[in-house]
Amino acid sequence: MTPHPLIAGNWKMNGLRASLAEIAKLGVLYDPSLQEKADLLICPPATLLAVAEEIAAKGKIALGGQNCHFLDFGPHTGDLSARMLKDAGASYVIVGHSERRQSYQETDAIVQAKAEAALHAGLTPIICVGETGAQRRAGVALAVVEEQIKASLPAQKSSMIVVAYEPVWAIGTGLTPTSKEIAEVHAFTRETLKRLFGSAFGEQIRLLYGGSVSPANATEILKLKNVDGALVGGASLRAEDFINIARAYV
Ligand code: PEP
Repeated sequence: MTPHPLIAGNWKMNGLRASLAEIAKLGVLYDPSLQEKADLLICPPATLLAVAEEIAAKGKIALGGQNCHFLDFGPHTGDLSARMLKDAGASYVIVGHSERRQSYQETDAIVQAKAEAALHAGLTPIICVGETGAQRRAGVALAVVEEQIKASLPAQKSSMIVVAYEPVWAIGTGLTPTSKEIAEVHAFTRETLKRLFGSAFGEQIRLLYGGSVSPANATEILKLKNVDGALVGGASLRAEDFINIARAYV
């Protein structure tokens, strides 16, 4: 059985209370026939989690954080723990997004600790991996992804985790790999996960593609083997764009 698809939206540092109207609209557009085909997740800024909880639940939309600390509590000014995100209404958290790996020097070991903290708190971690443009041009994309998977995934075997393949050069640029390139990385990632976690777990882990997904390219990308959904940045900010990506499944 293939994993149930997930369409996840990463609002990044965008969204005020007024943006909750987009989550309400999304809930109306997310009709029962689509609910059966794919799960929907919005990761707003953490400031909106608790206030979005009721609206999201009404629309059957899950909420997630965009990052978490690897510790539960303590003297870490400005940080949020996975437990806090859970307490505020999240059921998922993105870890290891390339923007965090690059801007905050988050290593694979830190990402792994965050993913483990998420599982411990009862959150599903969405662990991001992906090569830079220079690495792809150098022909080492698969090796980079393999290394990130080996070093960033939690040691604990869990089919709950989600892996997002996000080529850094495709994020927010309007550029996407070809279908063949996406299929190649996803097949390779699936095999790597099966090797690490065993066949049964490895088959169930959801593998998302992320990087300039839009309503225009969603159908082609989401039909690819081993692509179990998408992690969407820019196109998740408007309910209509986001739902039109999910509608690739109907
Ligand atoms: C992202 O930030 O995870 C992302 C995929 O962004 P975009 O869809 O805007 O490329």
